[in-house]
Amino acid sequence: MNKEINILGGGISGLTCAIILLKNGYNVNIYEKRKATGTRFNSDWQGIENWSEETDVLSELRSFGIDLSFDYVPVCELNLHYSDKIRTLRGDKACYLVKRGTAIDCLDTCLLEQAKELGVNIYCGTKPDNNKQIHVIATGPEKGNILAKGIKFNTKRPDSYHMAFGDDIAKGFYSYLLIKNGEATIATVFDNRNVRDSENYLQNTIGYFSEYFDPEEVEAGNKFGGYGYFEIRKTLYNDDGAMLIGEAGGLQDYLWGFGMRYAFQSANFAARSIMTGESYDKLIKENLHKKLKHSKRNRKLFEILGPLAYPLAYRLFKKSKDPLKLLNVVYR
Ligand SMILES: Cc1cc2nc3c(=O)[nH]c(=O)nc-3n(C[C@H](O)[C@H](O)[C@H](O)COP(=O)(O)OP(=O)(O)OC[C@H]3O[C@@H](n4cnc5c(N)ncnc54)[C@H](O)[C@@H]3O)c2cc1C
Repeated sequence: MNKEINILGGGISGLTCAIILLKNGYNVNIYEKRKATGTRFNSDWQGIENWSEETDVLSELRSFGIDLSFDYVPVCELNLHYSDKIRTLRGDKACYLVKRGTAIDCLDTCLLEQAKELGVNIYCGTKPDNNKQIHVIATGPEKGNILAKGIKFNTKRPDSYHMAFGDDIAKGFYSYLLIKNGEATIATVFDNRNVRDSENYLQNTIGYFSEYFDPEEVEAGNKFGGYGYFEIRKTLYNDDGAMLIGEAGGLQDYLWGFGMRYAFQSANFAARSIMTGESYDKLIKENLHKKLKHSKRNRKLFEILGPLAYPLAYRLFKKSKDPLKLLNVVYR
C-alpha cells in the first residue's frame, strides 16, 4: 500500500484529513498555496453547527482523533431579529463559536500544530511537482454562490449573539453579530447575484445592530470577506482520481452556509477511504447526501417564498418551544 499521501490545501478539511492519516501511520505532505494556513480568515468568529445530527460535533471531532486545543464557545442563546422584532431562542449548545485565522487560539492554527506534531510535511507557497500524484484536494471554494462581508472589531460591550433577516441587510440569507470576551464579528451573508449591493448590506447591518456596540469600535475594526460554494456533484473524484473534500467538493450547507462540519466529516471519509479502500463517493452519498439535499430543498423554498420567507421563518422559530429540534427537523 502507498503510505505517502499528498493533499492540496492546508485549510480545516486538509489538516483534519492529514491528522487522521498521520495517526494511522501514513506520511502526509500538504501543499498550501498561501504563505501560511488560515490566512483566508481574520480571527473572526464562526459557528460550528451542532443541530444537524444527534451526535455532538465536538465528540465527533474527538472520535476522529482531533484534540480540542482551540478556543470554542458553546452558544445556548441566540437573539433572532426580523424587522423591529426580537426573539431569544434557547437550545443546548446549538453551535460552538470558534475563531478562524492565524492567531494562536484559532481553529486553523491548532489543527496545524497538531498536524506538525504528528510529523506532517507542509509546503506553503509551493506547488507540488507535476509528477506527484495528488490524493486529496482540499482547496476550499473555487467559486462562490454565497458571499460574506464583515468586520472584526474589539468592543467593551457584553457578550451577545444575534442573527437577523431582511432584504436590506442580507438579501436571501442573514446578517449576524457575535460578541464574546470583547471580540466582535459583524457580517452580512448574501447571494452572489447581489454582489453590487454588498457594501450597502454591510452598512445597513452595522446600522441595524448599532445599539450593541459603539460606532468608533466598529470603525477601528478590520474588514474581511469571502465566498462559499455549494453543489451536489455526481462524483467527488476528479479526473485524476483525487478526492474532493470540504468546499472544494461543494460540500457546504445550501441554506445558511455552515460548511465547517462538512469539511471535518468529508475529511474523515476521505481518510477512511484511503485506509480501507471503501469508495469515497459511496461514503459521502450514504452519510452526507440526505443532509445536503434537505439544505438544498430548504434554500429553494426560501427563494420561492421570497420576502415572505423571513416573517415565516421568524414565526416558526418564535413559536417553537424547542428551536434546536426545529432546526434538526429542517436539516434531516
Ligand atoms: C466570512 C465567512 C464566514 C463563514 N462562517 C461560517 C460559519 O459560521 N460556520 C460554518 O460552518 N462555516 C462558515 N463558513 C464556511 C467555512 O469557513 C468553510 O466551509 C470551511 O472553511 C471550508 O473548509 P475547507 O477546508 O474546505 O476550505 P478552507 O478552509 O478555505 O481551506 C482551503 C485551503 O486551501 C488553500 N488553497 C486554495 N487553492 C489552493 C491550491 N490550488 N493549491 C494549494 N492550496 C490551495 C487555501 O489557501 C486554504 O488554505 C464561512 C466562510 C466565510 C468566507
